[in-house]
Amino acid sequence: MPILPFPGPSVLRRIAVFFLLMAICGLLAASPAPAGAPYHGNTNSHKFHSALCRYYNCPHCTRIFQTRDEAIAAGYVPCRVCNP
Ligand SMILES: [Zn+2]
Repeated sequence: MPILPFPGPSVLRRIAVFFLLMAICGLLAASPAPAGAPYHGNTNSHKFHSALCRYYNCPHCTRIFQTRDEAIAAGYVPCRVCNP
């Protein structure tokens, strides 16, 4: 009799539990917006945006700031839409 390529039920249960735990961890990690979320600075207009702004991922918003002070120190001004 050939060896079955399929794992036994106990192994399947462990795999299921593993994926369930991974899903829970993913939900916990994704649900709250992290405090002190980084800002995106527009390298063209020198304005910076919060993570909730609709311009956050604009084509020129490639400069990343960890704090508001960091953006201002770099000569960037707060966006008038999101007012970070
Ligand atoms: Zn903005």
